[in-house]
Amino acid sequence: MKTDAIEISASSHTYPVHVGTGLIKQLKKLIGLAGATDQRFIVSSTPVWRFHGPTVEKSLPQTEHLLIPDGERSKTFQSVSRVYETLIRTTADRSVTIIAVGGGVIGDVVGFAAATYLRGVKLVHVPTTLLAQVDSSIGGKVGVNHPLGKNLIGSFHQPIAVVSDPQVLNTLPRREFRSGLYEIIKYGMIADPKLFECVRTNLSGIFDRSPKVLESIIATSCRIKAGVVEKDEQEHGLRRILNFGHTAGHAIEAATNYRRFRHGEAIAYGMLVVSNIAAKRGIFSENDRASLTEIIENLGPLPSIRDLSAGMLLEIMKRDKKVSKGHLHVVMPTGIGTTKIVNDVTTREWQRALKTIGVGP
Ligand code: NAD
Repeated sequence: MKTDAIEISASSHTYPVHVGTGLIKQLKKLIGLAGATDQRFIVSSTPVWRFHGPTVEKSLPQTEHLLIPDGERSKTFQSVSRVYETLIRTTADRSVTIIAVGGGVIGDVVGFAAATYLRGVKLVHVPTTLLAQVDSSIGGKVGVNHPLGKNLIGSFHQPIAVVSDPQVLNTLPRREFRSGLYEIIKYGMIADPKLFECVRTNLSGIFDRSPKVLESIIATSCRIKAGVVEKDEQEHGLRRILNFGHTAGHAIEAATNYRRFRHGEAIAYGMLVVSNIAAKRGIFSENDRASLTEIIENLGPLPSIRDLSAGMLLEIMKRDKKVSKGHLHVVMPTGIGTTKIVNDVTTREWQRALKTIGVGP
């Protein structure tokens, strides 16, 4: 067992992100070192618990657990309320440590419950999807969807520790696994050409879920995200680069009611859109654009976007622009590993790029 702890300095405290094969068997020790109390409470989901519950229970004996539904449609206040109810019924006090075992939905829901129960209690993330290991468990953003929009209700609540075990990914469906890989490509694109190259040249090891390769790309991705969120915890500036591919990606997710695409798949399309705009502007080379397109194609097929219209997606982007007070900041690639933020992308540029990647008129 190898542990590769990455320290994240948040304004409230510094916490470790442990990445290593087999670490799920060491939960008690790892979270104890991070200051978890003896009053522990696990929240997970039925599918995750079916696969990994026995190991977690062995690692954290005599710990109560609650199973709530996961998947985007369960990222609601009702789910948070179920966590509150159980905490209240079991008379959990302010010293409780809540342990979220699951994908990004469980992490966001349980994190929000931990941020608000008795005005905030300790939280540990044990992410079980690749996306959660490289993205949602890092940085402290927690929250739920509102019927009028995704992720509209939330808070910042940093965990006391994150324990990422690549072994749990062995049971993850291939499509969910790929969804996380697009986020890793995103990190390569915004900050690390070596990471990009490592994914490009190790696809078979990655798809075989080789522990060594996964440990390395997960830890590198966590370090990149940690570096960004440490400098801009509450998303006032730099953290925006993490939104590379998100402008069009969000619109594609919203246009299909968050049902057709996994988050990473929509971001893959979003990255293709901005790379097209940047290449057309002459700030991103044709070679780099082709490399990005090739790596995305090599990961496998993406759901079709042919029935979506550029007009519909632009309307959704305009709505997002209103929410951000008229500024649609777009993260543009300028090379593999470098970006710049612009706010002058024209409707014509969006339309052209959306059509280039296969969106209807
Ligand atoms: P998810 O949590 O819905 O999990 C996807 C599916 O994988 C679920 O069906 C789940 O049961 C299953 N699953 C999870 N772990 C498994 C395992 N080890 N084996 C088998 N099946 C497993 O989806 P996700 O992609 O992990 O997360 C998406 C959510 O994350 C979105 O709501 C998004 O908004 C959020 N997110 C949050 C942040 C943040 O900073 N907080 C960042 C990115 C994304």
